[in-house]
Amino acid sequence: MAQRCTHFDGTVTPPRADRCEGCGSTFNLRVCTTCGHVGCCESQRGHNTAHAKASGHPVIKSLPLGEGHFTWCYICNTYVG
Ligand SMILES: [Zn+2]
Ligand SMILES: [Zn+2]
Ligand SMILES: [Zn+2]
Repeated sequence: MAQRCTHFDGTVTPPRADRCEGCGSTFNLRVCTTCGHVGCCESQRGHNTAHAKASGHPVIKSLPLGEGHFTWCYICNTYVG
């Protein structure tokens, strides 16, 4: 279940890459809604998580952005929407 998040204003910066910027993975990617950074998920090398920690950008979305994608906030530490 998604909860309300005060860290996400609904603005999504388009993905700036078509693969993980850390390792080149092309599946289970996440985009940083703040800057468009693309990183792989935690079940891979967690480059998305690493970006969130390094940058302080709290909210990511799963790719591709479309029906069924999810939004995660690292500050709320849960799915948000
Ligand atoms: Zn939040
Ligand atoms: Zn990666
Ligand atoms: Zn970012």
